[in-house]
Parts: sequence; C-alpha cells; structure tokens
Amino acid sequence: MADNEDTPTTFGPNTQLIRAGYDPFDYHGFINPPAVHASTVLFPDAETMEKHEQKYTYATRGTPTTDALCNAINELEGAAGTILVPSGLAAVTLAFLAYLSPGDHALIVDSVYGNVRHFCDTMLTRFGVEVEYYDPSIGAAIESHFTPNTKLVHLEAPGSNTFEIQDIPAIVAAAHRYEAIVTMDNTWATPLYFRPLDFGVDVSIQASTKYPAGHADILMGTVSANAKYWKRLKHANGALGICGTPDDAYQVLRGLRTMGVRLERHQANALAIAEWLEARDDVARVLYPALPSFPGHHVWKRDFKGASGVFSFVLSVARREDFKIKAQAFLNGLSLFGLGYSWGGFPSLALEVDLDDRRILKAPEEGPVLRLQIGLEDIADLKADLERGLAAARAA
Ligand SMILES: *Cc1c(COP(=O)(O)O)cnc(C)c1O
Repeated sequence: MADNEDTPTTFGPNTQLIRAGYDPFDYHGFINPPAVHASTVLFPDAETMEKHEQKYTYATRGTPTTDALCNAINELEGAAGTILVPSGLAAVTLAFLAYLSPGDHALIVDSVYGNVRHFCDTMLTRFGVEVEYYDPSIGAAIESHFTPNTKLVHLEAPGSNTFEIQDIPAIVAAAHRYEAIVTMDNTWATPLYFRPLDFGVDVSIQASTKYPAGHADILMGTVSANAKYWKRLKHANGALGICGTPDDAYQVLRGLRTMGVRLERHQANALAIAEWLEARDDVARVLYPALPSFPGHHVWKRDFKGASGVFSFVLSVARREDFKIKAQAFLNGLSLFGLGYSWGGFPSLALEVDLDDRRILKAPEEGPVLRLQIGLEDIADLKADLERGLAAARAA
C-alpha cells in the first residue's frame, strides 16, 4: 500500500506510463525496481523498532517493489492511495468489506462482474448487508432507490459481457447527496481511457490481471481511493492482511510501460472486427460502446477517451432451442481465438456469455451472446478465423 507522495504531473499518458512509480536513481540507476522478497525488515535499534520510525516495517505493509507499482497507479488514477491485492475479484470484495457494515444497504449495478454478484449474494448478505441491483441505464433516477441506510453504490462501466455504459456523473451526484460512497470497477477502460476519480467516483478498482499485466499470466487487483476514503481502505488492507507479491507487482509494473501502445492496437483491431461483424446478416447486434449503433454510445463518447478490445455480439439464430448448438459450433469452428476466461492479454479469446444471473436486464432474444477479446494478431487473420466460426454455426 502506498500514499500518494508525488506532486501532480502534466505529462501525457504515454510518458506517464514510462516514468510512473519508480525513479531509477533510487536504486543505483537500474531502470526497473528490484523485486524485493521479504517478510522481515530489520530495525537498527530497539527505539526505532518500538516507534516504527522507518519507511518499511514488515512486508505486508509494503516493499519497494509493491510501492513502485502503487505509486504508478496513484499517478495514473489521480488517487490519494492504492492497495494491491492478489486478484481483481479480491479488489472488489476488499473494497466492499472496507466500507460496508451490518445493516447497510448497497446498490450494485445489474451488469456487474459475475463473481462479484456471487460475493454479494452469499458472504456480503450473510454479514447483514442488504444488496439491491439496479439497471445500468438508470442515470439520475437512481435517486429513488436510496434509503437512509444506503452506504455504497457500485458501478461497472461498460458492464461485464453486455457492455452497458452508465451515466457516471449523474449517479455520483445522487450518491453524494445521500453521503454514500461510490466505487467503480474500471477494468475495461483502464485509467488511460477513463479516470473515475476525475468524475467524482471515490474508489477506483482495476483487475490488473487484464491490460496492466497484459500477458495472460498474472493475477492482481488494485484499489485506489480519493483523500476522503483512503484511510479506511488502508486500514482494511492492514486488518485483513491481503497483499500482492513482489514478483507479480514487478510484472504488472513492467506491463504498464507498454499498456498505451497495446491498448491502441487492441482498440484498432476491435473496432475493425466490430464494424465487420455488424455489417453481416448472421450477426444480429454488436455490443461495443465505440459503435455509434450501441445504446449509450453518446455517453461513452462524452466521458471516455477510448475503447479497449473486448466486446460481445449476438449471433442471429431463429429458434431459441438452437442457441446453444449454434454458439458451440461457432466456438468449435475457431482456431486462432482460444476458448478461455479473462482478457487483456495478447491473444484473442472467445466464449459464450451466460446471462442467467441477471435480475433486471434480459438476455437478447435474437440469439446467443458471444464475447470476444480481440488480441494483438493481424486483423485479416482474425476475420478469416471468425469467418470459419460463423460458417460452422451456419452449418450446425
Ligand atoms: C476479470 C475481471 C475481474 C476479476 O479479475 P480477476 O483478477 O480475474 O479476479 C473483476 N472485474 C472485471 C470487470 C473483470 O473483467
């Protein structure tokens, strides 16, 4: 965990990514920070030990490696402080545990990441928090859902798998009138394409597993808070003892250095593929906020600086009883796209989306929903692969 000690910078985002978090002359000029493996930190004498009068005291409270990453994220998010946790899921659950108490009411967006819903419906409910799901398109009308106990509003925009955009400033304004904290899962956009804290969100959450790590080999999450909510987050992190490892922190910081160029390529590839899919007869709809046809596109354009490389499309299938068989034929017809969870790494991935857990939103009726993570391959090769998948779906 690290408090933001940096002075505000005026560098552009790509320059920031190259320099953020670590000064090579803090460690003999080596361009990357050392991966410090530690539990024990020694004190020079009993008085220093008693007063904890040195920067590092024990590795659960941070090391030079984890601090380098936390400082970089503070800078990118414009945050007062950031904590590292071992996964994106833990980042959301830890934030909820930090700010919620028995008897509280929490408003959670219905397009929330599925494993977060599971946490809300099981442990959070068991701990006496009342959870209510709201429509991602609700905007200022969320006001009517507040009760005197509403303590937290959780956003995720675009939403998982169906990519609904939320009117973030309108929801923030309502929440703050009721003195509720606003948390946001910003994994899709990263702070390069959307900076939640600049829009009044109090706590910004990222699965660094995705674009920051960027190579499909690391699990990590970050939670970044503004000045008002940082102390409580830091305290919860210390109380729970959940922390990131030095090797993972090192790899995520390494990934950040190239995240700008990778995201540009993911975005260009994804837009080309999304437009190509949208023009086809066998595709009913493409769910990608960067497309003008997508509901919420104008809000995305107003607030976001870019789009990342994951989106879904609805395959056009006449009869509901054929949805599963056509979806599976499509997936089995692919060879470049891997079938696997997660996204944000270099390779393209595909899966069929399960929307059965939604409370308010209904699954599209035109056909099965297929999610694509568009990787860094060549567009022509990706189109040829999708063409094979679509042909297999037609033949099924
Ligand atoms: C992947 C994901 C997470 C969880 O990240 P893990 O590191 O896989 O636990 C959380 N939120 C969103 C929006 C995600 O896409």
